[in-house]
Amino acid sequence: MMSLSRQDRTPNSNRGLDSVPPSRLKGVGPSIEKKLAAIGIFSVQDLLFHLPLRYEDRTKVTLAARARVGEYMQFEGEITSCDIQFGKRRSLRCSLRDSSGSMTLRFFHFSAAQKDSLAVGTQLRIYGEVKHGRAGFEIFHPEYKALAQAKQIPSDTLTPIYPTTEGLLQPRLRSIISQAVDLVIANTAIEDYLPNEIIQKLGLTNLTEAIKHIHRPPADAFGAWDREAPNPGRDRLAFEELLTHRISLRRLRNDSDSHAAPQFVGECQLIRGFLAQLPFDLTGGQRRAFSDIEHDLARPTPMLRLLQGDVGSGKTVVAALSALRAIDAGYQVAIMAPTEILAEQHAINFKNWFEPLGIEVGWHSGKQKGKPRAEQLARVASGECQILVGTHALFQDELEYRKLGLIIIDEQHRFGVQQRLALREKAASMNINPHQLVMTATPIPRTLAMSAYADLDNSIIDELPPGRTPVNTLIVSNERRGEVIERIAAACEENSQAYWVCTLIDESEVLQCQAAEVTAAQLAEHLPKVRVGLVHGRMKPAEKAQVMASFKAAEIDLLVATTVIEVGVDVPNASLMVIENPERLGLAQLHQLRGRVGRGSVKSHCILLYQTPLSRNGKERLSVMRESNDGFFIAEKDLELRGPGQVLGTAQTGLMQFRIADITRDANMLDDVKNAADFVLSHHPQIVDSLIRRWLGENIHYANV
Ligand code: ADP
Ligand code: MG
Repeated sequence: MMSLSRQDRTPNSNRGLDSVPPSRLKGVGPSIEKKLAAIGIFSVQDLLFHLPLRYEDRTKVTLAARARVGEYMQFEGEITSCDIQFGKRRSLRCSLRDSSGSMTLRFFHFSAAQKDSLAVGTQLRIYGEVKHGRAGFEIFHPEYKALAQAKQIPSDTLTPIYPTTEGLLQPRLRSIISQAVDLVIANTAIEDYLPNEIIQKLGLTNLTEAIKHIHRPPADAFGAWDREAPNPGRDRLAFEELLTHRISLRRLRNDSDSHAAPQFVGECQLIRGFLAQLPFDLTGGQRRAFSDIEHDLARPTPMLRLLQGDVGSGKTVVAALSALRAIDAGYQVAIMAPTEILAEQHAINFKNWFEPLGIEVGWHSGKQKGKPRAEQLARVASGECQILVGTHALFQDELEYRKLGLIIIDEQHRFGVQQRLALREKAASMNINPHQLVMTATPIPRTLAMSAYADLDNSIIDELPPGRTPVNTLIVSNERRGEVIERIAAACEENSQAYWVCTLIDESEVLQCQAAEVTAAQLAEHLPKVRVGLVHGRMKPAEKAQVMASFKAAEIDLLVATTVIEVGVDVPNASLMVIENPERLGLAQLHQLRGRVGRGSVKSHCILLYQTPLSRNGKERLSVMRESNDGFFIAEKDLELRGPGQVLGTAQTGLMQFRIADITRDANMLDDVKNAADFVLSHHPQIVDSLIRRWLGENIHYANV
């Protein structure tokens, strides 16, 4: 995996600040040291690369009379009163007066010592957010310092705010990091691992300068921390960070390349048979993507390829062709989907396609129990089962393959880098190095493909099968729900079918399914002539399959569903989709859902039924859906509006949350990063470990600040 254990650290780099423990600094005892470790700080170098989230401008002192509500400002004055108030909530209230006027400071949590330090007559410098109080300006819980102890002049640099953890207060952390910065400035230059060739070619700023600039930017740099403004210090660090991420993924790739994989070459009878029974011709995009894959499968090292294509571009057929190549050579194939229902859908597809060719298709999920499970396991172990479809259970429990040659992952944006790597490790621990094909549900922006998927080669299906009509998307407020329901009645009257998608109110699947049940009942009541069906994730597989089949057979007119139908339902006669609370979903997911309509030749509509009030960002996101049917464009917009963590679905895991880089802002660096990574790996492999230790360290979690 990407994180290194402490023991892995190479002894020859133990000279610089990366081997000086934080406890060498003033005020760092065992308890603080533990807190620092919790946020991944084990050395003075780690302190230097613990980068601010944002800055505050405390370079100026404002007069009380010039305070502005809603702004963070700094003031100096004398305490003229200090007493405990017993209102709804007990609080400590002080008055602070300067030459221009006075304001109130209020503390809801305070100690006796704190009360003493705020005695009448004390001269203070305070910093905080100005609010409207009952008697003029008021600040809750300002940061404060007695002027006698403070430096006489306020800081001449911006004040950094760092990510921290419980029990490690911002001022304390700031002072510790500041000591580390002093060390760098005084003498101990921080070691610059980057080769000179790269620094010079790209004109990168000196590392020591960059570190200084990031922790202590000059006051006039405040604007320069805007996302767009140029900033050489930040750029230098962002480059190094992106480079390190890329290198770590490329190195994993190189590891994989050093293993042997089975080679699939020559004529493939099964593919001939499959194409002959397929009711359509492959598109040019499908042909090109499959030819990339065939080329990989013929090589003696494992394929690691990402297959991208817009919703409905026909990725499954390409996956099937790839599977046939492996099966023809006598190997097994595992197809992994992120949800049970999607896995079931694939199982049905592959059975329909492959059983006529005499291929045994198996099904495996964590929920499978008893005899069917034991039998399935046995057939996989004996090799009778040639292709196995399932969820991540395919690699989690006691499954043993006889001869696994290809893993296909239908990623649906839900498997992050981490799971992908874990899967590869699991395969390696089983002593197999199968080929791997990763399919995404919807396109990923190029910038993300270049960073989060840097270990994979990339194929794009760049055209849709002929005969699709673009979906017309409408954004409608929930206040007009009645009209929308009437519209469904009209559509069903014309023998068309419709979907009604309920999104989650919270993460709970139970509540989600209940909401869908309630909605289905209400719609059935409002629409007596319409046959309403319901499908959600908590139904038994057989029940689900039956409802889906009835909908496909047009025995159901309106299918109410949770977001489960996002996954491969294919009903060309469905021409209307209503999505409730679309503002809760990512654009990629909305696009994926919408892709369920517009599969036939009639004009289709998608109604995004939003809840008022809708935030500005929400409005903007939904209008992207109205304006475009192009998954690649939508993916770029989604990234811009939500950030990479959300888009990749890895926000919680901390992956792709860079300390300083921002792949949208820094997109223009990515080509240089790519070239520099190749250069480092081939010419300076000895710096790789140091860079990874500096930037990736261990996996850490920050408290919210
Ligand atoms: P996705 O890329 O979203 O996974 P699918 O593989 O589910 O798309 O394909 C969507 C639909 O398009 C399926 O019904 C499939 O049978 C059909 N399809 C795939 N390839 C073609 C093609 N070349 N011509 C016509 N229809 C196709
Ligand atoms: Mg698909």
